[in-house]
Amino acid sequence: MPTTIFKEFIFEAAHRLPHVPEGHKCGRLHGHSFLVRLEITGEVDPHTGWIVDFADLKAAFKPIYDRLDHYYLNDIPGLENPTSEVLARWIWQQMKPKMPLLSAVMIKETCTAGCVYRGE
Ligand SMILES: [Zn+2]
Repeated sequence: MPTTIFKEFIFEAAHRLPHVPEGHKCGRLHGHSFLVRLEITGEVDPHTGWIVDFADLKAAFKPIYDRLDHYYLNDIPGLENPTSEVLARWIWQQMKPKMPLLSAVMIKETCTAGCVYRGE
């Protein structure tokens, strides 16, 4: 029976949204403590008792995390318009080849706002 596990990461980054109407607060330079939740869905291995090792998930995300943490997201290729939606898809595209069982990328940019991307 398929089961889903998740691991959450928090990184700090600055951004601004270039396509919002003039005067919109998101057009100004500001920062967030972004929360990323990576979900993995698959069969539980009967011997190990898990789907994948959380350490493998963490290791796969590390190079991506290192590109995001304490950076200005707009400078990163592919993140010129770094909304949560764009960021979730950007992370998905890099994680999916490394983690084929990836089933969702969730981004929260505040305690109450975020998005979930489940692939194309
Ligand atoms: Zn923002």
